[in-house]
This record gives sequence, C-alpha cells and structure tokens, in this order.
Amino acid sequence: MDAPRIAIVLPCYNEQEVLPSTARTLLSLLDRFAAEGLVAADSYIMCSNDGSRDATRRIIAELHAADPRVKGITLAHNRGQQAALLAGLMTVRERCDAAITIDADLQDNPEMMADMVRLFREGKDIVYGVRSSRDSDSWFKRVSAQSFYKFQSAMGLQTVYNHADYRLMSRRALDILSQYGESNLYLRGIMPDIGLQTAVVEYARTERTAGESKYPLSKMLALSIDGITSFTAKPMRIIFLTGLGLMLVDIVVALWVLYVHMAHHTVTGWSSLMLSVWFLGSLILMAIGIVGEYIGKIFVEVKARPRYNIEEEVF
Ligand code: UDP
Ligand code: MG
Repeated sequence: MDAPRIAIVLPCYNEQEVLPSTARTLLSLLDRFAAEGLVAADSYIMCSNDGSRDATRRIIAELHAADPRVKGITLAHNRGQQAALLAGLMTVRERCDAAITIDADLQDNPEMMADMVRLFREGKDIVYGVRSSRDSDSWFKRVSAQSFYKFQSAMGLQTVYNHADYRLMSRRALDILSQYGESNLYLRGIMPDIGLQTAVVEYARTERTAGESKYPLSKMLALSIDGITSFTAKPMRIIFLTGLGLMLVDIVVALWVLYVHMAHHTVTGWSSLMLSVWFLGSLILMAIGIVGEYIGKIFVEVKARPRYNIEEEVF
C-alpha cells in the first residue's frame, strides 16, 4: 500500500487558546510521518468548528492561510462534539484514505497516531485509542467518567472501555458510518456496530494544555443519556421488572392490611401511608421520565432533520 492520505479531524468549540499550538504540533507530526514514509505528504488537519463564539473561526482561516494543510468547516450552531465529529468525518470522507479524530486540546497523546496508521496499513479499519491511565484528570472527572463507562455496560451498551473519541477510521468504515442516519448520535456506540477489523492502541492521557474543559457535568450527563437511550431499551425493561417486583410486595402488604382490619386493631397508619405514597410517587415519576426520554428521542428521530448545517468550508 502507498503511504495513505490521513485527515486528522478536530472538533473545536471555543478553542482559541489551544488551536494555534495544536495545529503546530500536528503539522510537525505530519511532516515527520511523511518524511518516514508513513503517511502521504498531502495529509491534513480538518478543524470542525462547532459554532464557537470566540475567535476559533478566524484562527482556522489564519492557520489555513499560513499552511493550507490546515482546513476547516464551521457549523452554523453549537451542536455538540458528536455532531462536530460527524460533520468533520463526512467532509473528509472522500478526500482521505483514513481519518483520525482527536480532541483539539491534545489530551490524548498524538504520537499514538503513528501506531494507528501502522495498524491501518496492516488492514485494520477501526483503531481505538484507549486510555491506560487517567492520572492527569481530576478526581471528580476520573470517578464520573469511569462510573459512566460502568453504567453503560450495565445497561447493555457495548463500548470499548476507556475509549473516548480518539480513533482511526478507514474510508470503508467512514462509508458505513455515513449510512447511520440517527440524530441521537453516539459514535462510541456506533463503532462496535460497524464491525470490520479493529485494533487498540493504549496511551496515558495528559492534561489540557490551555483553556478550560468544554465538557461540564451537564454535557457529560447529556452524552451518557444519549448513549444509553440510543442503543438500548434496557431501562424500560428495568422499570417493568421493578413494577412487577413491587406488585408482589403489594400482595403481601394487602394481606397484612386485611388481617389487621379483620382483627380490629386500631392502627393510625399515617407513617406507612406517607412512606408508600412518597416511594411509589417517585417511582412512578421516574418511570414516566424514562419512558418520556425514549418518546422524546423518537420525536427527534422521526423529524429526521439535518444533524448539522455547514456554514463555511475552507479546504
Ligand atoms: N467540543 C465540541 N463541542 C462542544 C463541546 C466540546 O466540539 O459542544 C469539543 C472540544 O472543543 C474538544 C472536545 O470536544 O475538542 C473535548 O472537549 P474537552 O476537551 O473540553 O472535554 P474534556 O477533555 O474535558 O472531557
Ligand atoms: Mg479535553
């Protein structure tokens, strides 16, 4: 196989602080890989600007003027990292042999791209970057992220443990990805579904070089709910089983109440009544909420609106 043309896809939301240094690092990486004959000289970087409100768009244009291997698209709105990734991937799909997605802050060691490309050249279609350590993350980030992965697998979602969105996809994998029409996007769940030949490279995650995390708890929660509700209906099964279990308990309680009634014991019953009203009330609300979550997803999917609108492309 000839040296492949690689597109590095960066989702960028308000990344003005890191983008210049990220571009510098990645361009010199591409130079080095090209000199070693690992990648083609026309390999490039695709910045997918997720409707940033800062100078990200201007910086992309400046970087492109300085070195045309930096390319970019700007989405009309902030649609979230998953949509930004998809927009970038679909833009490079017919203009590369393989694409590598990585966060713009380069917390995921970009040197691993060499191994990813080698594995791609050996015939792998998807190469997952897997974090072997999270020492650099804060305690809260580490614990919340890891409970997120554990919760996902408990809910029956198949994902690669500790793999975020640092991965290589061959053109063939991208073609298959383009056929997934869902609005409720969760790429990490789609990857195992694509199948093909896969491999894993491990690395230690480092700290963000500049700027702040663009993933507050609210976005992390939204991503995890999207992930679960777009791949499994297990939560609904759990509601059903809980309801069934409670019904059995209820039969026992009903028998006890009848017995007490017959025996003419005077029981005030206030506390048990309060407890059960509150307990059942919250269970019912939770159950309706979960069902509502799925109905909401159906509502969004049925409309089949475009998942992003590209306002501008610099290529
Ligand atoms: N990002 C995005 N849209 C958003 C939020 C984040 O494109 O609405 C991008 C962001 O620019 C970065 C990546 O997603 O390239 C991961 O975000 P971040 O590094 O802030 O998350 P963390 O590493 O803290 O989980
Ligand atoms: Mg980060």
